[in-house]
Amino acid sequence: MADRDYYEILGVSRDASPDDLKKAYRRLALKFHPDRNPGDKASEAQFKEAAEAYAVLSDPGKRERYDRFGREGLGGQPGFTGFDQEVFGDFGDILGNLFGFGNIFGGGGRRGPRAGQDLRYDLELTFEQAASGIEAPIVIPRLDRCTTCRGTGADGKDGIKTCSTCRGRGQVAFQQGFFTIARTCGSCGGAGKRIVKPCPACAGQGRVQAESTLTVRVPPGVDDGMRLRVSGEGEASANGGPAGDLYVVLRVAPHPVFHREGAQLHCEVPVTFSQAALGTVVRVPLIGGGEEDLDIEAGTQSGTVLRLRGKGLPALDRNGRGDLHVTIRVETPRRVSAEQRELLQRLAELDGKETGERGIFERVKDIFN
Ligand SMILES: [Zn+2]
Ligand SMILES: [Zn+2]
Repeated sequence: MADRDYYEILGVSRDASPDDLKKAYRRLALKFHPDRNPGDKASEAQFKEAAEAYAVLSDPGKRERYDRFGREGLGGQPGFTGFDQEVFGDFGDILGNLFGFGNIFGGGGRRGPRAGQDLRYDLELTFEQAASGIEAPIVIPRLDRCTTCRGTGADGKDGIKTCSTCRGRGQVAFQQGFFTIARTCGSCGGAGKRIVKPCPACAGQGRVQAESTLTVRVPPGVDDGMRLRVSGEGEASANGGPAGDLYVVLRVAPHPVFHREGAQLHCEVPVTFSQAALGTVVRVPLIGGGEEDLDIEAGTQSGTVLRLRGKGLPALDRNGRGDLHVTIRVETPRRVSAEQRELLQRLAELDGKETGERGIFERVKDIFN
């Protein structure tokens, strides 16, 4: 029987859609389910066979290998090696509601005490604080473990008793067909313990609402939108598990002079036309204080970018700092004095005669020819 074709087992054609497969499996599973055929070994075998066929054909990767290579294509496993989690998962999904055992396979991932909830805190930083890093004290309202009962929720040692229904295991198991079914214990809700005398400080909750102050260390060079995870500083667990985490979301204000791209810092420095033409030295402000002299060569064009190495922001992903990129902006005077006007007019006359440069129209003609 183990060698029967999977499509044949499910009674579908080889081009059956996933929906067809599911319907066919469901029909067979209902027909041969052990609960409907107690003690019938043949039904049980057919039930397992259908589950095996469905487990393979409902997985697109496995189905393709099976179509091409048959059973040998399925990783050399000789047929079906018992009920693996995958089959159980599908099976629970399909039959769970039908037979009313939602928790048939022992609750999956919900075993054991659950961690407390994660919390989020938005921390506002100035541009300079983000550049230099800070230690910021923050106050977060959260549920903390009750210190009176140390989180047990009980008043003293006698206030808590092991659950007699599940004997502290939190689950009760019983036999149904050939399954052993584990369910969360209804008496204690899975905790394995029952509080007979609640702690007066937290009314048996094990947690109290508190405002906690902690210091968050923000490393230098952080950027807007980054998150810091502070492990274990979220909410306390409701049933003795670990606390959640605290996520500090950084909000960095823009700067009037600098803007950044990662660790690269940018700013603009205005110079006059004569400074750009003759060359000069300008003082450039640095992030975190101080200034640096920057040489502007004679003949510098507007838009020229000069780089001050290592004067950017600390790089988070490596050692060192980015650079400061200074864009030179040549400013055209908006108002001129009578004397300036005279000089500029003289300059204009000279521009025409002495520079020897060809005018714009000449150059455009060159491009088209
Ligand atoms: Zn308490
Ligand atoms: Zn119990």
